Amino acid sequence: MLIAGPCSAESPQQFSESIQGILPAQPDLIRAGIWKPRTKPGQFEGLGVSALGWTHEIAQQLGVPLMVEVGSAEHVEQVLEAGIRHVWIGARTTVNPFMVQEIATALEGSAIAVLVKNPVSPDIELWSGAIERLSKAGIKQLGAVHRGFTGYGRTLYRNHPSWEIPIELRRRYPDMLILCDPSHISGDRLLVPEVAQMALDLEFDGLMVESHVSPDSALSDAKQQLTPQALLDMLARLVHRNLQSTDGVVNARLEQLRAQIDGVDAQIISLLQERMMLVDDIGSVKEEFDITILQHERWTEILKTRQSWATQLNPDFVRQMLFLIHQESIDRQAERFRHARASELLDEVRHIQKKAFNF
Ligand code: PEP
Ligand code: MN
Repeated sequence: MLIAGPCSAESPQQFSESIQGILPAQPDLIRAGIWKPRTKPGQFEGLGVSALGWTHEIAQQLGVPLMVEVGSAEHVEQVLEAGIRHVWIGARTTVNPFMVQEIATALEGSAIAVLVKNPVSPDIELWSGAIERLSKAGIKQLGAVHRGFTGYGRTLYRNHPSWEIPIELRRRYPDMLILCDPSHISGDRLLVPEVAQMALDLEFDGLMVESHVSPDSALSDAKQQLTPQALLDMLARLVHRNLQSTDGVVNARLEQLRAQIDGVDAQIISLLQERMMLVDDIGSVKEEFDITILQHERWTEILKTRQSWATQLNPDFVRQMLFLIHQESIDRQAERFRHARASELLDEVRHIQKKAFNF
């Protein structure tokens, strides 16, 4: 399944040119943001209700149904009144059960298709909770869109994919449509194809991709939107792996497990980095207050507690791992002390030189 279109509808010309360019890919639905949830105020927040009529009309003329984002009961009412039959709930809305319930209640009794984007936080319960609220409101055509999760600091992706989460969603809802939005995961158009390929390899049912006739001048998400031609090129290059053979099933299972391992490893690495940053902070406190690097009591306590936590692991492995981590922590602090000592020495040398040679 392919849903494509601009992040936002900006003008009839921008919208219709963007859509015309992607028609050769035969999208199942056209997407366009009418109300844009922006992180900071003062940015383009979408054209609002006045754009519903003409976007719907242009989409109808081009023969592809339109899908828009709704973030409140009022949006739902306006969308229904405009005759639009496909909506998605954005990541910043899914995170809020009050809003999801309000939308679900407003949708009750309407034959409308709803896609629920994952919440910005990596919380599967919040995601499936939103899906349940819509299901309880009688929504039959219900699916999910994986668009990645907010991380802290600078990372490769705008939103971390944490593939293990949509994989768990699939396990819970084996028959539900689950799409991937590689645009919001990537945040950078260069990364979109590889994320899209990963999604296909993980058996997602399709893609939601942002495409704009002139991405660099887009009023929202300029960096991640593809030109219609780039979208067509990407789609032509994506490899659709064969899932029919017995081997294919085994391979798909392997790929799922590996993706989960990738996700866990990424977490391990990021936690180790976080630990080492804390080690550095402790190092600077010790340095400032002349405290020794190695504290035996603390080290004994670390060994004891960590080993008792690791009930499912081989004790030998745990001890070795802790030794390695501890050693690296000491090395980092010692390095820091050496630097401090070295620059002190250098200052002394300079001082002596200054006095001796009078410069
Ligand atoms: C969007 O699709 O343009 C959008 C705002 O997405 P998300 O809710 O995933 O951030
Ligand atoms: Mn967007």
